[in-house]
Amino acid sequence: MKEISLYIHIPFCDQKCFYCDFPSFAGKGQLKEAYIKALIKEMNNKITKEYLINTIFIGGGTPSSLGVNELEMLLKEVSKLNLSNNIEHTMECNPGNLTREKLKIMKEYGVNRISMGLQAVQNTLLKSIGRIHDYDEFEKNFKEARDFGFNNINVDLIFGLPNQSLENWKESLERIIALNPEHISAYSLIIEEGTAFYKLYEEDKLKVPEEEVEREMYNLAKSKLLEAGYYQYEISNYSKIGLECRHNLAYWNMDSWIGVGSAASSYIDNKRLTNTSVVEKYIEGINNDNPIVEEEIINSLKDNMEEFMFMGLRKIKGISISEFEKRFGKSIEEVYGPLLNKYEKAKLIIRNGDNLYLSSQGIEWSNQIMAEFLL
Ligand code: SF4
Repeated sequence: MKEISLYIHIPFCDQKCFYCDFPSFAGKGQLKEAYIKALIKEMNNKITKEYLINTIFIGGGTPSSLGVNELEMLLKEVSKLNLSNNIEHTMECNPGNLTREKLKIMKEYGVNRISMGLQAVQNTLLKSIGRIHDYDEFEKNFKEARDFGFNNINVDLIFGLPNQSLENWKESLERIIALNPEHISAYSLIIEEGTAFYKLYEEDKLKVPEEEVEREMYNLAKSKLLEAGYYQYEISNYSKIGLECRHNLAYWNMDSWIGVGSAASSYIDNKRLTNTSVVEKYIEGINNDNPIVEEEIINSLKDNMEEFMFMGLRKIKGISISEFEKRFGKSIEEVYGPLLNKYEKAKLIIRNGDNLYLSSQGIEWSNQIMAEFLL
């Protein structure tokens, strides 16, 4: 039996956040039912009994924006798959459309981890980035999830937002730490092309914190979270011991995963497949048994080595030197010797026994360093 992770994409959102470039859409709610039916068909075709599923991540988009019936229809089908006994089953939820009824269904069908999008605790900031909820709605949802017995919750936060001060960021961290979630993701804002923020940025109408302040925000998150008993296991991710997100680790470790839904990608049997991101085209394709895969790439040895390095170096413990050799039949020195030498000398990469990882200073330059691992 092949062990895999399963990603399920729900492309609907009530409103598009101003910073978001994910393949998600507002105003397509009328497609939800047809979409879920198509998605179930794709899932049952792809996820045969030869697979044992270790982790599931229902992401998006906003899975909690599904109606009660659609949610139940989906989760019921998922629960019939060949699931491992200690499965991690995450569903992304956003305050504003998560209800007690939905939490009850999630619990009933085996969701055992919730990832909540919050981003900041100040209502003015939430509004200014296009979120549909305020802080109180988040806290109410968080407590309701606890009442239903969800004991593995992640909260997503963002720093470097327009008009966000260091003091704002400190307050966000402190208030979330006080709620004691098992996992906190602290991402730095990236102004992505195609977003509402990108347009404003181009027009010079967006006031984002200086690079120096952003660095302070990153360091503040790190120190506050470490002090509160979280450990950093990836550049932007912190958890209580043993409660890292196993699904994301599967990506960073380059394990196999299958994605279903519009825009979902898979990495399986050395192939990368990506479905169309056009929701209507996806539904129509599935219903008429037409191809929905938009891109298919067979990874070369070089692709695999590059991805192993730049995905692996995101993890705080980095990559395993022996694992590199085992996977690719070449020593890491043979492939990356001079580059490693350069960065080890500059103390941006550290070698410790079998591991190679970015130093604290190396993390600050991670984008530049990782780009150099492209062969
Ligand atoms: S809720 Fe999430 S997926 Fe939807 S627009 Fe906002 S950030 Fe993007």
